[in-house]
Amino acid sequence: MRCKKCGRKAVTNLRAYRIALCSDCYLDFYKRMVQRSIKKHKIFMEGDEILLAVSGGKDSSAMASVLSNLGYEFDMLYIDLGIGSYSEDSRKKVEELAGIIEKDLHIVELREYGFTIPEVKDRVCSVCGTAKRYIMNRFARENGFTVVATGHTAEDLVSFYLKNIAGGQREYAEKLLPRIEPFDAKLVAKARPLFEVSEKENMLYVIIKGLPFKNEECPFAPKPEWKEIVYDIELKKPGFVKNFVRGLVTEAKKPLETRHCSICGEISSGEICSFCKIRMRLSKK
Ligand code: SF4
Ligand code: ZN
Repeated sequence: MRCKKCGRKAVTNLRAYRIALCSDCYLDFYKRMVQRSIKKHKIFMEGDEILLAVSGGKDSSAMASVLSNLGYEFDMLYIDLGIGSYSEDSRKKVEELAGIIEKDLHIVELREYGFTIPEVKDRVCSVCGTAKRYIMNRFARENGFTVVATGHTAEDLVSFYLKNIAGGQREYAEKLLPRIEPFDAKLVAKARPLFEVSEKENMLYVIIKGLPFKNEECPFAPKPEWKEIVYDIELKKPGFVKNFVRGLVTEAKKPLETRHCSICGEISSGEICSFCKIRMRLSKK
């Protein structure tokens, strides 16, 4: 298999894009893909003071490296959840990464707030998620950052959406936007610069770049059933994850207010309702 751009030996065949690439062309492709996403969806804006939440995993390591390559200024935040050797190893990876990309790293220990994750008996991940969101937001605001970026991937957003839809909750779409502006002075904006990028693409990026990352899962991680469903669909329908996440974002960006048809006055999503459009088209004949 040859690289479609330069003809050298390809290291990957991206089925979603139907393109085979060598390692150099892949890094370039990845960087452009992230830059395009950021520009198109205004994920970062002029004047942003960016804080990157990093976990030591491949996704946030890829995010930090590519944003640094794209010339963004930012600091990083690692939250030590107190999960024994898992947290210790992750912390080491993040410290190593900070040294490589030469960015400031801040560390907050959950213990400072009076508990650690292994002491939580019930709904561990839900408590952990709340704690992380709380600390990210508070740390960012108190230290003059205006936006917190996380390494959520396309699979994260699609599986989160499917899980919530299956659970009967439909109000989640707007929580999946690539950038969420604060609705209160105590909140900072949230950004997901990798929302269109797949986990496999992040993995390939960190491997080619030789970046430090922790591959083991958190010992409290639940069985990733929804993720597996998403992987299965992607396997059968290459491109599904990207198309789905782009569709979600377009949907979530639509204003919720309803309009009325300028011809008949019934509910309409545009200036003229679909029924009147059909009537106009058919009565012309
Ligand atoms: Fe926290 Fe581990 Fe659950 Fe992730 S898997 S939310 S790190 S407890
Ligand atoms: Zn090439």
